[in-house]
Amino acid sequence: MYLSQLFIPVTKDLPAEAKIKSHQLMLRTGMIKQSSAGIYSWLPLGFKVMKKIEQIVREEQNAIDAQEMLMPTIQSSEIWKESGRYDDYGEEMLRIKDRQGREMLYGPTNEELITDVFRSSIKSYKSLPQILYHIQWKFRDEIRPRFGVMRCKEFYMKDAYSFDLTENEAKKSYNKMFFSYLKTFERLGLKAIPMAADTGPIGGDLSHEFIILAETGESQIYADKRIFQLDLSKYESTESSLSQMRKDFSNFYSATDEKFDETKFNESVEKNNQIRTKGIEVGHIFYFGDKYSKPMNCLIDDKSGKKISVKMGSYGIGVSRLVGAAIEANYNNDVMQWPKSISPFDVVIIPSINKNNKDNLQKAEKIYQELKKQNIDVLLDDVDENMSNKFKKHDLIGIPFQIIVGSKSEENKFEFKELNSKSELLSLENIKSKLKE
Ligand code: ATP
Ligand code: MG
Repeated sequence: MYLSQLFIPVTKDLPAEAKIKSHQLMLRTGMIKQSSAGIYSWLPLGFKVMKKIEQIVREEQNAIDAQEMLMPTIQSSEIWKESGRYDDYGEEMLRIKDRQGREMLYGPTNEELITDVFRSSIKSYKSLPQILYHIQWKFRDEIRPRFGVMRCKEFYMKDAYSFDLTENEAKKSYNKMFFSYLKTFERLGLKAIPMAADTGPIGGDLSHEFIILAETGESQIYADKRIFQLDLSKYESTESSLSQMRKDFSNFYSATDEKFDETKFNESVEKNNQIRTKGIEVGHIFYFGDKYSKPMNCLIDDKSGKKISVKMGSYGIGVSRLVGAAIEANYNNDVMQWPKSISPFDVVIIPSINKNNKDNLQKAEKIYQELKKQNIDVLLDDVDENMSNKFKKHDLIGIPFQIIVGSKSEENKFEFKELNSKSELLSLENIKSKLKE
């Protein structure tokens, strides 16, 4: 892509409500455009990042044999009346009527709908376990939408649902998902800490929020630094290894406000290992047993032919929130650097251009063609402006690698630079192999 042709509408005046850096940056680099309070259009640059995140989430769900499907955004109120949540959900639910006057709603989540799908076809323990997921827009009429894509009304979420015969079996599904989440966030270049969360009336220890550290986060968190030393690669996807993994993680203190206990924290974690900061919730996993299957009559025959309410869990990841969260975690001193796995482009070529001399631009175009042939996703900054402005702009767009074609380049060697580090003079062959790495 040539930068001059890319649709990046930069906002000159930032709206006053853009208080945190991710929101400001997303507006400045034209990743999103607000359409009304808490509702955004995703413009090409932002959309590309979100799609890359979505794909990693999908691959890690598929890796644990979760099956992708797609449920609609608009749901009928009937199933929500069955579960009892139609009244309980309150004003966050956007309620609408169709032309026949039927009560519909824009789904804020999908427990009821998936239970309805499941009960209509699965009847026997022989078909269990199952994990189904979809990646779909959700709507919650948040009372105070803010922080751009972090807390908005319409947002993109991966939600998965597990179905098992017993609580013990459900725990295995839960552990698989726990592992899959840690791997997902690792691939996204983010450090997410699993934190025990409220389980409500169900009790037990099967509810975790995944939180990434950021001062602008909405949750106050307390954790043992050593949790970051746990190495995921030592676990396999066998039951015993995953159960060991959960034990290892639970050995380190981590809690949000809700569950925090000062005395316990001080007793179990030395002062220099204590993290006390804010965090952003990017995922939430939750076992809730027969909370929906029971009122909705989702029954399974067990081995003896007895009918049992299927045991369910739900597992969410805020795909669109993650775009903002990744910026919060990686934007420092006016430089944004995308993790390589989710950067909008792999590399940008920045030729020094002036009216009288198009040599550099021609060289840049050759490099561009070469890299495209290698399936490298490359941006060419063909805009006629001075280099210092260009560098400032690319500090914000955040593409992790730059090829600079200017005064320092030689006949067949060009400056190659990773953002936030020194450049080196390399041949195109060397640049290609570095990028391939
Ligand atoms: P929060 O406490 O932040 O409101 P929640 O407990 O309501 O989150 P869940 O219902 O567990 O969230 O949804 C799963 C994930 O969806 C969350 O972890 C978060 O990443 C994302 N999410 C939830 N609400 C929003 C929102 N209003 N805007 C963007 N993402 C959201
Ligand atoms: Mg919420």
